[in-house]
Amino acid sequence: MKKIGVGVLGATGAVGQRFIQLLENHPWFEVVFIAASQKSSGKIYEKAVKWKQTTSIPKNISTMLVSNVDSKNINGAQIMFSGLDSSVAEEVEKFYAEMGVFVISNSKNHRMYENIPLLIPEINYEHIKLIEKQPWSGAIMTNPNCSATFFTMVAGVLNKRWKIKNINVVTMQAISGAGYPGIPSYDILGNAVPYIGGEEEKMETEPLKIMGELKDGVVEFADITISSQANRVAVIDGHLESVSISFKETPPTIEEIIRELESYESPLSKFNLPSAPKYPIRVMKEEDRPQPRLDAGFENGMVTSVGRVRKDSIFDCKMTVLGHNTLKGAAAAAVLNGELLYSLYPEKFK
Ligand code: NAP
Repeated sequence: MKKIGVGVLGATGAVGQRFIQLLENHPWFEVVFIAASQKSSGKIYEKAVKWKQTTSIPKNISTMLVSNVDSKNINGAQIMFSGLDSSVAEEVEKFYAEMGVFVISNSKNHRMYENIPLLIPEINYEHIKLIEKQPWSGAIMTNPNCSATFFTMVAGVLNKRWKIKNINVVTMQAISGAGYPGIPSYDILGNAVPYIGGEEEKMETEPLKIMGELKDGVVEFADITISSQANRVAVIDGHLESVSISFKETPPTIEEIIRELESYESPLSKFNLPSAPKYPIRVMKEEDRPQPRLDAGFENGMVTSVGRVRKDSIFDCKMTVLGHNTLKGAAAAAVLNGELLYSLYPEKFK
C-alpha cells in the first residue's frame, strides 16, 4: 500500500505524543502535519513539547513546525489523528472534516452523535458505515473514553454470546489519563482521589452505543444498565477496573466465560491491519494479576488483560480488567481505526 500523509492535532499533549511515537515507521501512514494551541504554534516540535515518552522524538518530527489548529495548509494530510483538548475539538474536528479530511478523534465531543461512529473495532467495526451518512466531504470517527474501552471490550465479547443485563464497574485510573501536567503531584502522591469529572457519565452511556446494533443505518443502543465509580490513583499508565456482570438469562459458568474471552479472535484479522492483535483479550490465571506496571503494556498496549474471573454473590460474575489508557484507550485505538478506514475505503485516498 502507498503511504498516505496524516496529521496530528494536539501533537504536544499526552495522547498527541503517543501518536507521534506510534506513527514513526508506520507502514501505511506518514506524519506530514502537526498542530497544537497558540502557545506551541510557530515553534519547532522539540521546542514546543515536553516529551515524556521513553523513546526519542522521531528525527523528522523534532524539527517540524507546529501549526495552528485552523491552518488550511496541511501539507497533503488526508487523515487527522486528534488528541485535542475537548474545549476546542468540536469546532476544529468539524473544520477539517468539511475540508475533506478524515478526522479520527479521542475527544468526547462527537462520540454520541447519531451519524458518527464510536468504535472499539474488535466489537463493532461495522458501525464505521455511519461515516456514509455524514454531510462532509471528509468524515469524523471516534474512539471511546479510555476507562469505558476496557470493560466494554470484555462485556462486548460476552454480550455477543450471552445478553448482559447489568454491569457494575469501579475504576482505578492512571494519572496519564488526565493529560500533562494533569493532576498536581501534591494531590496524588501517596493518595487516591474518588472523583474524575464527567468520567462516570461517559462510562454509563458510551458502551451502550458500542454494544448497540446497526439497523437500517442507525445504532440501536444496547439494553444494559451500567453503574460506574471512577477513582484516580497514583499509577502512571494503565486503568485497572473491578467489573461485575449479570446476564439476562441463565448465566454461563465461570469456565465458559474464561473460554469465551480467551478464544475471542479479532474480527479485524481478515483485514490484516498492522496494529490489530489477533486475540484482543488475554485472561491471566495468576491470582494477583493483571497489574498496571506489569501488564498494561502487553502486546504494545493493544491487548486488554483480564484476571480473577470468579462468581459473585450479587452479580453472576466478577473480574479485574486492565488496559493501557494512552494506547488502546486512546492513540493506538485511533491509529487502528485509521487503518480500518484506509483498508475498507481505499477509494477515498489519493
Ligand atoms: P493534554 O495532554 O492536555 O493535551 C491536549 C492537547 O490539546 C495539547 O496538544 C494542547 O496543545 C492542545 N490544546 C489545548 N488547548 C488548545 C487550544 N485552545 N487550541 C488548540 N490546541 C489546544 O491532553 P491529553 O491527555 O493528551 O488528551 C487529549 C484528548 O484525548 C482529550 O480530549 C482527552 O479527553 C482525550 N483522551 C485522553 C486520554 C488519556 O489517557 N490521556 C485517553 C482517552 C481520551 P498545547 O500543548 O499547545 O497546549
